[in-house]
Amino acid sequence: MLAGPGLASWRSILKFINLTRRTEIGANCYYLGSGEQGIVLDCGMHPKDEGEAALPNLAALAGRPIDAILLSHAHLDHIGSLPVLMRQQPQARIFMTEATAAIGDALLHNSVNVMTREREEVGVIYPLFTHRETERATDRWQHCPLGQPFTVNGERSPARPDDELSFEFCGAGHVLGAAGILLRAEGRTVFYTGDVNFDDQTLTKGAVFPESEIDVLIIETTRGDSPLPDGFTRAAEEQGFAEAISRAFARGGCVLVPVFALGKTQEVLAMLYKFKRAKLIEDVPIYIGGLSSKMTEIYDRRANTSPRVLPRLQLFPEVAPFVLNGKTIADSPARPGRIYALSSGMMTPKTLSNIFARRVIDRPEHSIFFVGYADPESPAGILRRAQPNELVSLDEDEPAQPLRCQVEQFQFSAHASRESILDYIKKVGPRKVVLVHGDLPAVEWVRASAATALPTTEVLVPLPGVEIEL
Ligand SMILES: [Zn+2]
Ligand SMILES: [Zn+2]
Repeated sequence: MLAGPGLASWRSILKFINLTRRTEIGANCYYLGSGEQGIVLDCGMHPKDEGEAALPNLAALAGRPIDAILLSHAHLDHIGSLPVLMRQQPQARIFMTEATAAIGDALLHNSVNVMTREREEVGVIYPLFTHRETERATDRWQHCPLGQPFTVNGERSPARPDDELSFEFCGAGHVLGAAGILLRAEGRTVFYTGDVNFDDQTLTKGAVFPESEIDVLIIETTRGDSPLPDGFTRAAEEQGFAEAISRAFARGGCVLVPVFALGKTQEVLAMLYKFKRAKLIEDVPIYIGGLSSKMTEIYDRRANTSPRVLPRLQLFPEVAPFVLNGKTIADSPARPGRIYALSSGMMTPKTLSNIFARRVIDRPEHSIFFVGYADPESPAGILRRAQPNELVSLDEDEPAQPLRCQVEQFQFSAHASRESILDYIKKVGPRKVVLVHGDLPAVEWVRASAATALPTTEVLVPLPGVEIEL
């Protein structure tokens, strides 16, 4: 309950702790509250770290009761550790959009399978949660539509509550179900963007975010170190991607596109649908992975009810991708004239994209096309930087291979450009802006740019694990 003495402290001292372990895009998780009440925003799992090191710094929550856990979207780096936090905070209510719940359910069960497979390498603590615990956890999730304020007790709240903490989900673009979270209490407003894209993608419409009356803005900075190229348009990038696929087929090879199962897979399928209809590419076979196929079904079922550029497009019936899994990938040679849009996007060892890449990397007729963000230290990041004929190790358990295939990069990020992040901060003009979800150079560019553009705004880069006052 939020009535009583907690209110005064929420108003007077608002505390914030960055629960990620480093300044990076890892296990995203943030604490916000006062001494007596608190909420947690997101609870991710680090995509590269293993075991307990992959969890957020949940120890920093010791002695702080959590009233509610609010989820911005269902990427692993935002929802992957939720069952662990729910075990530690059994009284907390859990809120997210309906689509995020559907995706999160599939993703967490997949994560249990991955952790179970890795158990022997990592040690006795794996998996960090089980299928049963995940089932019990998802039963407790409460779904909230976009654009409606709720109290942390899960009740509808008036638009401008005067004495209760309320929250409202605001469409964030990015991926299906993604939302920024607007928090209001006693006339103070805090807005957490989660991962955001202000522009339309091929399938997903851009964010619809509030632009005024925000005191504290907590904003992602993923693309802070990559300027938008001069004259960039998504339409021109799509055209270039289609032409590159045609060139790859003319060389007699196949195309591997490493993609995240959630979001990028569906955007790529929508692009391939457009390319085929416009006769930019032939009607070639397309392959995706098992988790991607589950996510695609979730997208299809919500085609008419989610903010879509192509609201009637049903990806499965229209694009008809073949589905590969950990077993069938072994019998799937790299065949010319085919597109393999396989996860993971970072080409993590033992995932379909990593296994398949080792099949094509040393063959000059084949191609690997990158279409989004990759951690610079991940196999995808290493491959993107590699020079032709350089020896590349995609999996430390396997021999390194010379890079002989074609590698090209395209910009279809699901994240806002740094220019649009800065524009949004300027439009909002908050009293304080808190920069999260970025590697150090990215955060630093946004910090310096925002500080110059808005001299009266306090720009904060929250040190991991250190409590600050907002
Ligand atoms: Zn995301
Ligand atoms: Zn993220």
